Amino acid sequence: MPGKETILVVDDEPDILNLTEKFLKLGHFNTITCSNGKDAVRIIEEKHGEISLILLDLMMPGMSGFEVLQVIKNSEKLNHIIVVLFTVKSFSEDIQKGKKLGADYYITKPFSGKELLKQIQEILQGVTSLN
Ligand SMILES: [Mg+2]
Repeated sequence: MPGKETILVVDDEPDILNLTEKFLKLGHFNTITCSNGKDAVRIIEEKHGEISLILLDLMMPGMSGFEVLQVIKNSEKLNHIIVVLFTVKSFSEDIQKGKKLGADYYITKPFSGKELLKQIQEILQGVTSLN
């Protein structure tokens, strides 16, 4: 059995952050949460060795998810980390922009806990692909 994998959840909406963390814990993941891009970059720099996946909101005040994504994917040290855009489905142009910047996958909000866990497990197992 592999150890628990750690997921960093970045979202400026506290309700989404809390709910997502709750579901991920139910799915036996370790979680780190953070509510803005600047803190996200600091945490990623510190803990990139232990973070398997980042669930990244795009629209946040201050440093946006796009900017965080660019920092990660432009860094040789960090670009192995799987970045999953956490975004509202109707904003498909954001998903396209995120893909161009190197995002690995996306999960749309609103989400069901069951579906979120299923998608994250599939992403971590490499059985899903970004289309
Ligand atoms: Mg947001």
